[in-house]
Amino acid sequence: MPAIEYSKSVPVIAQPDVLVCGTGVAGIGAAVAAARQGASVLAIDRAGFAGGFFTNIIGSAFDGFVYEETGRPVVGGLVFEMLERMGVIAPGSGPGLSFNVNGDFTEVEKHPERLIPRTDPERFKLAADRILTEAGVRLLYHSQVADVTTRSGRVDSVIVSNKSGLVAIKPKVAIDCTGDGDVAAWAGCPYEKAEGVQPMSIHFRVSNVELTFDLRRKCSEVLTRARAAGKIRPYGGPWPATFSGTDIYFNAVRTPGDSTDPDDWTRAEVDGREDAWRMFELWKTELPEFEKAHFFTSGPTAGSRESRRITGDYTLTADDIRTARRQDDVVVLGAWRIDRHPRESSGYHDQPEVPPYDIAYRTLLPQGVENLLVAGRCHSATSEALASSRVTANAMGMGQAAGTAAAMTAHGKLDSVRAVNMPGLQSSLLEQGCILDPANAMQPTGPRK
Ligand SMILES: Cc1cc2nc3c(=O)[nH]c(=O)nc-3n(C[C@H](O)[C@H](O)[C@H](O)COP(=O)(O)OP(=O)(O)OC[C@H]3O[C@@H](n4cnc5c(N)ncnc54)[C@H](O)[C@@H]3O)c2cc1C
Repeated sequence: MPAIEYSKSVPVIAQPDVLVCGTGVAGIGAAVAAARQGASVLAIDRAGFAGGFFTNIIGSAFDGFVYEETGRPVVGGLVFEMLERMGVIAPGSGPGLSFNVNGDFTEVEKHPERLIPRTDPERFKLAADRILTEAGVRLLYHSQVADVTTRSGRVDSVIVSNKSGLVAIKPKVAIDCTGDGDVAAWAGCPYEKAEGVQPMSIHFRVSNVELTFDLRRKCSEVLTRARAAGKIRPYGGPWPATFSGTDIYFNAVRTPGDSTDPDDWTRAEVDGREDAWRMFELWKTELPEFEKAHFFTSGPTAGSRESRRITGDYTLTADDIRTARRQDDVVVLGAWRIDRHPRESSGYHDQPEVPPYDIAYRTLLPQGVENLLVAGRCHSATSEALASSRVTANAMGMGQAAGTAAAMTAHGKLDSVRAVNMPGLQSSLLEQGCILDPANAMQPTGPRK
């Protein structure tokens, strides 16, 4: 590919203790935790709101939050606080409750007595703005990381593109919460990308339909027939879920591709919208329940389940997960199934259940750079392990750990995020209500009050 040389003087708009890139679920955790530890924090996002998956793809399920067997939480801290702020649980009640694994109807059928930790995009946006600003985080939306400069194994500046043009931010510590690992990759850190990354998906929202167990089965049957007749491309699920009443959304579109390739991502939007409308029209034609249904919205964007996995000081493996291997530097627990969406096939796939397991601080430390952490979907994990650890509650927990560690690094004038005192970090996380001992999740609780 031809290249051009381009050089330009860029204004330095901020020099925060901690720069959080991406205000998705991991980024909210990171920014709030760092600010509450007293660090000056700037958080940026390419979107006009925070929330990542919950607001940018639209979704409702805090997966990875509980151990399925008992319904007990494995992630605490800011996940509880976000559920409180959205009115899902009463303040302080989280640790004692038993929760459904998510809003998926098969799970609700199994455990109707458990509380569903369901969120809603607009409530999430508001709760995210408030928790960030109340913590004292400076927010810059509509600001996309465009490049990174490094000096002597450190991030020197992060170059951001926004309506001011190109601007530079010089942080003491940066945290990459972009999902795709943009900051770490552009800082030159090593990373891996699977040959066949999980497919992207655009969600779509339908109003005036009442979601029932039976309707989900009927929607699935319509798609099975349509696929067999060659009328639709490969699809997933479908997994419908509801925000409230007759407002439901479908996770069903499946577009193979890599979200770090702009052509693939564009195709996921264009083909995804075609597929979404095709499914909607099939249901409308074949199911009386869709008679008054209205195609309310798609997106805002097609979402990515897997792209760059940054290589850290330790890489989480599926064996670590299956055997619940304990780690001295555990900073968050996981418990979501190994949920690897296939690229080409359709319908439901195997999702082996797992015990509560440890996610190590070292999976947040990209190799080769001393003042950078990663949190969320781009942390260091094999492709199979990431199929479990990528989900929202774990991402927020990783963010909370990374933000706390970044503040400790900046305050302690440490020359590396690797120099953070581990017992100190873990006891700070416990004080913040995080859960680090899987035994907590093993005890069943009584029915919800
Ligand atoms: C279709 C789909 C359905 C899913 N369903 C569920 C589900 O039901 N439950 C569940 O728990 N998980 C689900 N997941 C997984 C979940 O979305 C993610 O793995 C999780 O959100 C990871 O959190 P994160 O903070 O790492 O990334 P995100 O939540 O994606 O946040 C990344 C943030 O970074 C911003 N960003 C990205 N690049 C840049 C840049 N260069 N500059 C500035 N900002 C940037 C984005 O705008 C975004 O706000 C689903 C994923 C997909 C794709």
